[in-house]
Amino acid sequence: MFERSKPQIVFTLTARCRDCYRCLRACPVKAIRMQNGQAYVDEKRCIACGTCIRECPQQAKTFRNDIDVARRLIDEGHFVAASIAPSFAAVFNKWQRSRLPSALRALGIRYVGQTSHGAYQISLQSRKIAEEEAARPHIATACPALINYIEKYQPQLVDYLLPLVSPMAAHARLLKEKMGADIKVIFIGPCVAKKSELNRPEVSGVVDCVLTFKELNAWLIQKGIDLSMCEESNFDEKPIHEAQLYPLPGGLIKTAGLNDDGLNLKLLRVDSIQGVRELLDGIGEGSEHAIIEPLFCSQGCINGPGVDPGKNLFDRRRDIIEYNEETISASVTPEPEDSALFKAAFNKTDTVGSPTSVTEEEIQKILAHTGKQDPEQQLNCGACGYDSCREKAIAVALGMAEPEMCIPYMRRLAERRTDQIFTTTPNGIIMLDAELNILGMNPAFKKFFACSDVILGRHISYLMDPAPFEKLITGVTQNLDITVLHRPYNLLCRELLYMLQEEKQIVGIFINITSQQEHEKKLKEIRSQTVEQANELLEHQIKMAQNIAQFLGESTARGEELVRKLMSLSEGDENTSR
Ligand code: SF4
Ligand code: SF4
Ligand code: SF4
Repeated sequence: MFERSKPQIVFTLTARCRDCYRCLRACPVKAIRMQNGQAYVDEKRCIACGTCIRECPQQAKTFRNDIDVARRLIDEGHFVAASIAPSFAAVFNKWQRSRLPSALRALGIRYVGQTSHGAYQISLQSRKIAEEEAARPHIATACPALINYIEKYQPQLVDYLLPLVSPMAAHARLLKEKMGADIKVIFIGPCVAKKSELNRPEVSGVVDCVLTFKELNAWLIQKGIDLSMCEESNFDEKPIHEAQLYPLPGGLIKTAGLNDDGLNLKLLRVDSIQGVRELLDGIGEGSEHAIIEPLFCSQGCINGPGVDPGKNLFDRRRDIIEYNEETISASVTPEPEDSALFKAAFNKTDTVGSPTSVTEEEIQKILAHTGKQDPEQQLNCGACGYDSCREKAIAVALGMAEPEMCIPYMRRLAERRTDQIFTTTPNGIIMLDAELNILGMNPAFKKFFACSDVILGRHISYLMDPAPFEKLITGVTQNLDITVLHRPYNLLCRELLYMLQEEKQIVGIFINITSQQEHEKKLKEIRSQTVEQANELLEHQIKMAQNIAQFLGESTARGEELVRKLMSLSEGDENTSR
């Protein structure tokens, strides 16, 4: 086992996460845990489908980069073979395809094989089993996300899965059979879920590293390998006609040589999460389908999360079909291999299961906390990322979600807070429309101007001079900070007036400073009374000084000088105190 650059296959770059719930909405199994405004991937629940990677608008969801693992295999001197998934034809254009084998060799890969060889063998095995056990439906799939989904969430369907390894593992087994068990195999494809296959006992040690096409491109850039500078060369394995179609829905059925025009009831191909879910909900012993071929990604693996999404999806599809036709003459038809080489067993016990640990009482308590105890209040709007308020309440109980994720609840809370501020503030608030008619007033404003809601709709001039408001509406100014005396109401206000540009409305905030001014007036009176009293005291002191001077026998001139000094001192004090 090699050390991984990141422990989880799919994870969040938390610094980029903007708490928008889009990944949660898109995740088919709700494996996203929202905590403190961050969307974490819960690996136990995650099926590694990569949907969240495609969906996140901030590129905050990503997958483990295993380039270091691949490089180490080469640096350690192993004979490294590559198994290139057939979807490479959708990723690289014609001239790039012809140079890709040389580029891979320049990276140190010694054998460039094609996963279609494994796919071909798996298709033959699938057909054989389906024909031998024709009485029941068989799920034949190359999609590890689908297998993860069934194992974790629909374990009752495990028995419908054909007990075969994936084309990737089948090809790696073929390569190791052919070239020795000690060679190392790197699979390169469109799929993130393939990385999770390495944890399966039948794949561990068979495939040694899984890279996506995105990682391959990054590795080529790291190494300074430019495809345009590489020589044209061939893969070390020839293509297999039809197996090149494997990445498309129906590719497995076609490779098995079965006639499927899309209308054959016995053969069913399904792509996309919605299609897969619908299909699995209806599958059972009485089902008329012989082979069901589901792929999790819409339009199949050409839309895998490991593919750069820059190219149009249907151009990718066209390129796969054209490549299959172009390579027909070079194509080979291998002999069927021993079925024992491709055996697999699936897990019925590693389930996430239904949240039975959550009691009805807990659910009701959480619903009540967000004002949803009454079913009519349960909007089931999906804004939180869950399909229903009840599902979200269960997620809260399981620690996967937070009550604050309910947007209608938070809006109500915010509105309630705003209402509280509006009604309890000591400042008067008024709102006017573009014609300066009164739209609303808070209680403080009504008290200031001794009015009621009866005047709603009337022009502001009914209460006060409209001139400041006209300045705003005519665009003379954007906002005003003025002090106005409203004589009829014996009210002095500091007024902050501003325009709500989008709404074309004016808001006025009136701060009553009448009492503040009265207070200042009183202060002034007290101050002047104090000065008068100080003067009286000074005069008294001067007289005292004269008496003392006489008493001590000082000359009149000296006494007068002293008096003058004291007088000037008292005048100075009075001036500064004003
Ligand atoms: S999609 Fe998910 S990871 Fe991306 S920003 Fe939104 S909440 Fe965060
Ligand atoms: S990879 Fe798939 S299952 Fe895992 S969190 Fe993302 S969307 Fe959900
Ligand atoms: S459809 Fe293909 S790319 Fe998508 S998850 Fe399945 S195997 Fe991977």
